[in-house]
Amino acid sequence: MNQIKKYVEDCWESCGYAVLLFHGVTEIEEMGCRNSNKKHLHALEFKKILAFLQSVDANFMLMSDLERGINSGKPLNKVACITFDDGFRNNLHTAIPLLKDFDAKATIYVTTDFIEMNLMSWIDRVEYAVEKTNLKLLEIYNHQFSLNSIEEKIQCLKDIRRIFKQNKIEKNILASEIQNKLIGKEVYSNESDLDQKLNWSEVKQIESMEDFEIGAHTISHPSLSHLEIDDQYLEIYESLKIISEKTGSKINLFAYPEGTQNDFNQTTIQVLKELGIKSSPSAVPFNIKGIDELYSIPRLNCDHEIL
Ligand SMILES: [Zn+2]
Repeated sequence: MNQIKKYVEDCWESCGYAVLLFHGVTEIEEMGCRNSNKKHLHALEFKKILAFLQSVDANFMLMSDLERGINSGKPLNKVACITFDDGFRNNLHTAIPLLKDFDAKATIYVTTDFIEMNLMSWIDRVEYAVEKTNLKLLEIYNHQFSLNSIEEKIQCLKDIRRIFKQNKIEKNILASEIQNKLIGKEVYSNESDLDQKLNWSEVKQIESMEDFEIGAHTISHPSLSHLEIDDQYLEIYESLKIISEKTGSKINLFAYPEGTQNDFNQTTIQVLKELGIKSSPSAVPFNIKGIDELYSIPRLNCDHEIL
């Protein structure tokens, strides 16, 4: 919490706006080794953040308003933007009611395959298998991970994230290999609060709400910088098109999957410009040197135990 407070105050001091990145908000208490990195914040913790923002007179804005604000060149004052990535159903059922209590707003970036098929991301598929397995050891690509206790399982997940995040192995293939070893089957979809995604009618419902808006977050959640220009174009163009069709609203907001400076490049920005997308937030909490502010709007990732 202190890190969030400090981040917001530092951002307001330097540029007048602060953007926070969340994935989910849940009321589930007991999660074993799942959600150990707090990808889904507990509702009470989320409420504390909103209460803090309200107490310091934050001016809540949607990302589309922030884009216009930055473009206008006029000074921004105490602007706070809440964003959610990926499209978890708990955004609608748990986060939005809390946001409304605080007169806050949010921009929700959805990955179209996740919505279409209720798909899990590769790391959620790995987490699911590590949680469910009875095996005490995982051996994969010359790495060994002990799984004797919840603590060791949590450490295993941390290590897998660190070791494989920038590795060129296709992540869903890696997740399938790990699932096959640990639980003897491949699981792509699950209905728990930590996995369930919005469906299209819920996405449309959010887009129609006054203080909420939908943006695109690709079709399959790849690290865009690992793709050739044609595939980057396809991931971005098709996701914008599908969401526009499904919601009946012209969607012109986008956020990079993963969002570190290694996950998008000048080609990505070129594609966004060609498609008329005027900004995109990163998942990096500061300005990235050499990249236009609008195409690397800083965001603080509020997961990863920073509370
Ligand atoms: Zn994402």
